[in-house]
Formats: sequence, C-alpha cells, structure tokens
Amino acid sequence: MTDQGVTGQDQQPPGVPPDAEARSADWAEEALREHEEFHELAPHTPGQQHLSREEQVHQRIDRARARRARIKEERITMSHGAGGKATQTLIDALFLESFRNPTLERMEDQALLQINGSRIAFTTDSFVVSPLFFPGGNIGDLAVNGTVNDLAVSGARPLSLSAGFILEEGFPIEDLRRIVETMATAAAAAGVQIVTGDTKVVPRGKGDGCYINTSGVGLLERDISLSAASAQPGDAIIVSGPIGEHGVTVMLARGELEIESDVTSDTAPLHELINRLLDATSGVRCMRDATRGGVATVLNEIAGASQMAAVLDEGAVPMRPDVFGATEILGIDALYVACEGRMVVVVDGAEVDDALDALHSHPLGKGAAVIGSIKDDPPGLVLLKTTFGGTRIVDVLVGDPLPRIC
Ligand code: MG
Repeated sequence: MTDQGVTGQDQQPPGVPPDAEARSADWAEEALREHEEFHELAPHTPGQQHLSREEQVHQRIDRARARRARIKEERITMSHGAGGKATQTLIDALFLESFRNPTLERMEDQALLQINGSRIAFTTDSFVVSPLFFPGGNIGDLAVNGTVNDLAVSGARPLSLSAGFILEEGFPIEDLRRIVETMATAAAAAGVQIVTGDTKVVPRGKGDGCYINTSGVGLLERDISLSAASAQPGDAIIVSGPIGEHGVTVMLARGELEIESDVTSDTAPLHELINRLLDATSGVRCMRDATRGGVATVLNEIAGASQMAAVLDEGAVPMRPDVFGATEILGIDALYVACEGRMVVVVDGAEVDDALDALHSHPLGKGAAVIGSIKDDPPGLVLLKTTFGGTRIVDVLVGDPLPRIC
C-alpha cells in the first residue's frame, strides 16, 4: 500500500492478480474519494454528474492546487523535509513569501546570476542521511555530488564548493576523517575544489553525529536556458539509469529489515554525462537529478511548472529486480525513492535518439531509457500507464515514507 498518490492503489508486480483489471477500472472512483478526504473537500455535487469521474478528479486537483499555500501545522513535521506537498507549502507560504525575488521565483535546483556578463549557477544543499556510511558511499559523497549535480543540471560547469559541518560532541575523529577524505576524492572526480567552510559543534544528544551543508557555484558557458516550465507536447521523458538504488540502499543499511541485497547507492557526479548530452543535442528542455522524492517528485515539478501532463509507461521504467522487491516489501512506490546519480531529462521528441545515444556512451548513462512523454492534457498532472493496462495519477508526495535518506 502506498501512502503517496491520490489513488492509494497498490503497485502490482508483473504477474497481475485476477481482480487487477476491475480495480484498475475503479481508479477514478477511489481517487476521487481519497482526494476529497485528503483535501477536506465537500463531496462532489449533483451538478457535476455530467462530468466523468476522471474529469472530476482532475477538476478537484486543479482547485486544490490553485488555492493559496497555507501552512496548517503549528510545528514542523518530518513531511516538511520530504520534498512533497508539505515541503512545497512551506516554501511557497513562508520562504518564497518572505524572500520573494525574480531569481528565487524561478524555483529550479539552482539560482542563475548574471555577474559582470558571466552567468553563474549557485546552489546549496544540506545532508542529514542516516546511517552516515552505507554501501556505495557515505554522507561525504552525497554532500559533494548532490551540489555538483544541482549545478550541472542547469548546464553549468561546477567550479567551487563550500562545506559546513555541524558535529555532535563525541563524534569519532576517525569517522570524520573518512567522510572528509571521501569528500576530497569526490570533489577531485567532479573537477571542483572545496574552497571555504565552517565547523560547529553541538552538545552530545543535540545532533546526530554529523550533518553537512554544501553550497556551490558553477559557470554557464553554454548559451542555453533550461527550465522545467519549457516542457512541450511531444517531448520525451528520459531517466538516465535504473531508479531507487540510493534510497533502498540506505533503508537496508539501517538494518531494520531482514532483506539481503547487494544493491549499492548510485551516488555519482553527473556533469560529464550532462556534457555529452548537451554536446549531442540542442533539444534538451530541462534536467533534474532525481534525489529526495525520486522521479515522481521531479516529474510533478516539471508538470506543474510547464502546466503539461507527464505520461509515464510503467513497464519502461528501469529498475533492478531487488530494488523493486525491496520497495514492495517496504510498501513504497519506487518512483518516489531517491536516486543520487540519476537524472530526469525532458528532450524534444525529434532529438530523442541523439540524446539516448549520448547518454548510453557514458558509463553513468548506460541504463538510460525513455519512460514516457509530455502531453498537453491533463495540465499539471503525472499519469502512469501501468503494466496491466490501467492508468493512475502519480501525485505529489504526501508524508515522508523515507526520512533522512540524503
Ligand atoms: Mg536537485
């Protein structure tokens, strides 16, 4: 059972149970009821009876989304950090309201600044992953690669990073040394330098070992302007490799589940892969690394910003079988699970072969695949065509199914 999405419909593995088709036909009915409950909307009125169930669902989602953001909670909850609905509301109703300016309003993964004729990309990210060490990496890789990738997806060349450490009294120096050495290695691999930093220590019990913030600047040397708002009907949606590996790795590393798997984090810097892609085609509309909230969250951001529909083909989404198995056991939808070295690319449909060839030519893009396309209707929504012939809405994340994943 997922706790994301308005349908609440289970994601079925291939080999579909006999009642699946019937349940698929009921998706609109169920989505309508759950959406009414979630958004505390009045039940649909008789005047709407001429609309199909599906149209009613879309209409209600439109109305809920059009309302001015308002924070309902008195205090911060874990969901405010999950990248979904609550995070968006916090950003819209508090941060954006207070800090509002045209640079911030772009709402991409990085700000773009014009300084003395140069176009600079600027971004920041904090890392609170638990555990700090996991198969395939540690918090140090994430802190470097995450910020490098947020710069690179704008088309910028990452240049310099800052590193701020918040350490808990009692944290082993040897662990910190491992993390810092990993950061140095990751920075060298990404062609960036860590040029400034900060260290703070909080008393024992007031932190959880080590938190890291990194900020970064990059230089936009290409004459391009990528934006989630520029997705157009007929564009292809590509994911650069199998999804969900980082999130599942961290969940399994917590040792709370008795699952054996050799899956490792996909954490990696994407700047070289992106360079190949941008050299090969001028048809790229936008790119986003699919971190917290996963591919589903990125696509909701793109659908929302462009007011287009992102239509996914479930069978085309690349995923390791053990990642799929783990998400089934955890009761989460892999589309929402964080990756740390994968990106979603929206590219002109006429350029999709060039884009795929370029991605496939780099080790980090070997598993790249077209997973869907952009359509003009229904605006702002992500739809998934399931492997058993149904369609469901892939809504913005509600709650936080995987806290402290990055
Ligand atoms: Mg990002």
